[in-house]
Amino acid sequence: MSRGRAAGPSVRMAAPPVLPAPRRVADPDAEAAAAAKALDTLAADLERRAAQARAADAEDAAEGAEILEALAMMAGDPMLREQTEAHVRDDGLDAAHALDAAFSAHKEALAALGGYLAERAADLDDLRARAVAAVLGLPVPGVPDPGHPYVLVAEDLSPADTVGLGPRVLALVTERGGPTSHTAILARGRGLPAVVACAGVMDVPDGTVIGVDGLTGEVTVGLTEEEADRVRDSDRRERARLAASTGPGRTADGHPVKLLHNIGSAADLRPGAEGVGLFRTEFLFLDRRQPPSHEEQVAAYARVFAGAGTVTVRTLDAGTDKPLPFLGLPAEPNPALGVRGLRVDRVLPGVLDAQLDAIAEAARATGADVRVMAPMVTTAREAADFARRARARGIERAGVMVEVPAAALQADELLAEVDFLSIGTNDLAQYTFAADRQHPGLSDLLDPAQPALLRLVGMCAEAGRRAGKAVGVCGEAAGDPAVAPLLVGLGVSSLSMAPVCVPVVREALAALTLRECRERALAPLG
Ligand code: PEP
Ligand code: MG
Repeated sequence: MSRGRAAGPSVRMAAPPVLPAPRRVADPDAEAAAAAKALDTLAADLERRAAQARAADAEDAAEGAEILEALAMMAGDPMLREQTEAHVRDDGLDAAHALDAAFSAHKEALAALGGYLAERAADLDDLRARAVAAVLGLPVPGVPDPGHPYVLVAEDLSPADTVGLGPRVLALVTERGGPTSHTAILARGRGLPAVVACAGVMDVPDGTVIGVDGLTGEVTVGLTEEEADRVRDSDRRERARLAASTGPGRTADGHPVKLLHNIGSAADLRPGAEGVGLFRTEFLFLDRRQPPSHEEQVAAYARVFAGAGTVTVRTLDAGTDKPLPFLGLPAEPNPALGVRGLRVDRVLPGVLDAQLDAIAEAARATGADVRVMAPMVTTAREAADFARRARARGIERAGVMVEVPAAALQADELLAEVDFLSIGTNDLAQYTFAADRQHPGLSDLLDPAQPALLRLVGMCAEAGRRAGKAVGVCGEAAGDPAVAPLLVGLGVSSLSMAPVCVPVVREALAALTLRECRERALAPLG
């Protein structure tokens, strides 16, 4: 869930069309004309969206427009048309199958060229799905663009889809996913009200006015315009109230707690932060099919460093729910327990070194206070190796995330090797409770306020106190006003969260003394 309220007409994201069994073609002229019309409609739609993107005054609008224009050119490519027509006339295929075959051949040809064109080849899957849906009279697949503000309803959304959502999306409701899935995290990062695991929402007809409360998880279907206005008013009032809250984090008796921001790119930077506690670098490269060059990485990191001042960069955390196609990792039977996070270094040793090189160069260029940390660290040896490689490049402060119970149990040993720990409660809960963080039915098992997780957090904080080193929390629990005081009571020194969560956490801490935070944290531990 992601806090905030919104109301508006719902629009569902349609799944890619399933090709029906081939039909016998009685009228090849009509069939070829239907296929050509689908391609015309597709190209015209892409051109319209490119023009809209150009007209928008957003930072990334020009880049978006260029991509849409390139796609429009692909859809309008005369060779694609000729091939589609040949499949109808020479092979006797119906329009849908002719389009499917022509797009497949086109994709293979582009992929074979390598470089930028190969990267664009995967876009043809999306174009093919749209053209086939058009010719079959099915709803357009992919993120819809109805031309007005709307509440997006989807079975599920990939992190890449969520990153690319346009400004017309008022809120997000998905039938699947868990509260710490990356779709929910990205929605929170954008301050977009979101509710995940909402059973039956895909049955709501498009255009129904629905209200979304990202804090309570309530989705109200069939609102009147007056009711919708009331939802919007209450959201405006709440945002204005929270916007007035500023200043550093403190308990009621003045114990300081750093309130840091979690970001995925420079676009997520917000003023008023005490620093960035988690920069998820993989979000920059979610839809890439070729590795980003050194220069590209340096530029992306430097944009963040220049705007943030103090940043903890998490090195690439690829795998499971954050697939990075450019790595070309093979599918695995148990991806959450497989090669992900720091473990990618075992199979693709150059990727981490290249990233550390780029981070070090961007840090030097901007003069920012930059620290790095590795995700999914399990042993002290891994921690030592990571710290050595970071320091060898001049990055002085290196830490690790505690996301695996083994790491929490060895917090002292890890801290002997690194400068700080940052507890990733999303994965630490997933692995402690053996419950998939994306599972819509297991969110109760993932509740971070359970004694087992609190005990692990307490062990890390104690180890930090012994070593005189910082231990923070950067999982979603840090941004939950009911859980944040418990984490502070256990002894963590910083909380890093989506910027939208900072005001409520600041409020929650200011209402309790450190002693009260401690009592609340220790009560469930008995
Ligand atoms: C976590 O696991 O808590 C974390 C912060 O990392 P991510 O959510 O990106 O896996
Ligand atoms: Mg994690």
